[in-house]
Amino acid sequence: MVEQWLDPRVSQRLQQVLQLSTAPATMSEFWQLAEKEYLGIPENKEFMEQVRAGKAVIAETDEDTGYSLALPDGSNPKVECAGDALGTALLRHVDIVHARCPHCGEKMQIKIEGKRVVNASLPSIVFWMGGSAKTGIVMLEGKDIPEDPVCYHIHLFPNRDHLAAWLQAKSDEFGFTVSLNDIVELWVQVLYNR
Ligand SMILES: [Zn+2]
Repeated sequence: MVEQWLDPRVSQRLQQVLQLSTAPATMSEFWQLAEKEYLGIPENKEFMEQVRAGKAVIAETDEDTGYSLALPDGSNPKVECAGDALGTALLRHVDIVHARCPHCGEKMQIKIEGKRVVNASLPSIVFWMGGSAKTGIVMLEGKDIPEDPVCYHIHLFPNRDHLAAWLQAKSDEFGFTVSLNDIVELWVQVLYNR
């Protein structure tokens, strides 16, 4: 995969969100730092093990965010963003991710088996890793009314045209796109390779 250089604004945002020691220059550097520093915290690591064991879901929420999972036990937990949905599915090995275009509501479905996408309702699905110039970055948690939740900027779109249309109405949004297969590959690197 081609190395993804990060927009310095995205880089700073990622640093702030996960409280990393340095701002990562590239996507793979981000994942390395996240793995070492964020997952290096025992309680974060332990939680990820719970997810891996099928006993927990990353960032489960009551809110209708547009992102949910279809689990083997028949439940359909909602999660806060596209990253949470894909991360949970990859850790648990067999899950279906349901997503809704943040622009028009078009539904998408992605089936994960093992460490890869075995089926996507559209081959053109793209992942958006973004942020905004607003200050006060916070994790999206329950019923708080956060200033600028991280998860409001992490999305899946049916294709780049839907993303472009969504961006037109968001003048302060910045970020970058990653294809579905590439974001899955990045997730797998951080979750399994080290
Ligand atoms: Zn759309």
